[in-house]
Amino acid sequence: MPLSREQSEIWEAMGIGPQWILRSAEDPLLPAPAARQPRPAAQGTAAPAVQPRVNARPAPAGAGQVRTAPAAAAIPGRVMPRRSAPAASMAPAAPEPHVIRIDPEIAGAVAGASWEELKALADRCHACQMADSRVNTVLAAGAPGCPIVIVGEAPGRDEDLQGFPFVGKSGQLLDNILSAVNLRRGREVAIINVLKCRPPFNRDPKPEEAAACRAFLMRQLELLAPKVLILMGRHAVNALLPDPAVKSIEAMREQRFACPLFGREVSTVVTYHPSYLLRNPVAKEKSWHDLLFAKKLLASETKGD
Ligand code: URA
Repeated sequence: MPLSREQSEIWEAMGIGPQWILRSAEDPLLPAPAARQPRPAAQGTAAPAVQPRVNARPAPAGAGQVRTAPAAAAIPGRVMPRRSAPAASMAPAAPEPHVIRIDPEIAGAVAGASWEELKALADRCHACQMADSRVNTVLAAGAPGCPIVIVGEAPGRDEDLQGFPFVGKSGQLLDNILSAVNLRRGREVAIINVLKCRPPFNRDPKPEEAAACRAFLMRQLELLAPKVLILMGRHAVNALLPDPAVKSIEAMREQRFACPLFGREVSTVVTYHPSYLLRNPVAKEKSWHDLLFAKKLLASETKGD
């Protein structure tokens, strides 16, 4: 039996997996087909214009085909996590092989792209199946110059429709937490995600999808050159911290981690994902403490600047 959405959320919050969602199941969060068109962005302070849907899937000549995570080796000392195969009797349907095709031309261009060019390159990317169902690619709020960079998981429905990270309910909560510690998105804080496209049915990102998006994530971080990194939730932790991979977010809070980025060790804080906080409001106070801790790290990083 597939999990109901509520059960699925509880499992996710408890860190229990894997979760199985029928491909054929209707996603309660997906809009009706007619509504799946780009629409004007919400009037946020830092939200630029809506990005058009770019969804035609060309079969790139010479595109590399891989079935495993191609960019795993990009994290020093990191082994790509593997999902164990479920017992056949538990699987609701035979999973389709998830083929990742990374266009070498796009991958090469991403490595040297400017901040502005990354968006156009993501729109051309059809490395994985998320490209077939996305409305928009979702790159960032903020830009190089923001000293703190928050890394989330993946766009949800609202982000997919508007083309910007954290513009739905979890984004409103994030903005509230930021303003409680006198931080603003687009000013002191840039926000990016591990994935640049919405996973269908809002399911968890797959390791191979994270690998397919990794070149974008790393180029974003190279250009942003954060003084302090805040990783929200286990997918961001798994993507950016060398071993050990996530124990639990609770166990990793209130510690300074060093994230190796382009020859530097960036001060890094781990905290809850806002979606978790929406389901567990008592943890909001902890995330407020975590952001204060990040500000303290920033103060010590910039002492003497
Ligand atoms: N959750 C994320 O991790 N990122 C978003 O942009 C929105 C929700």
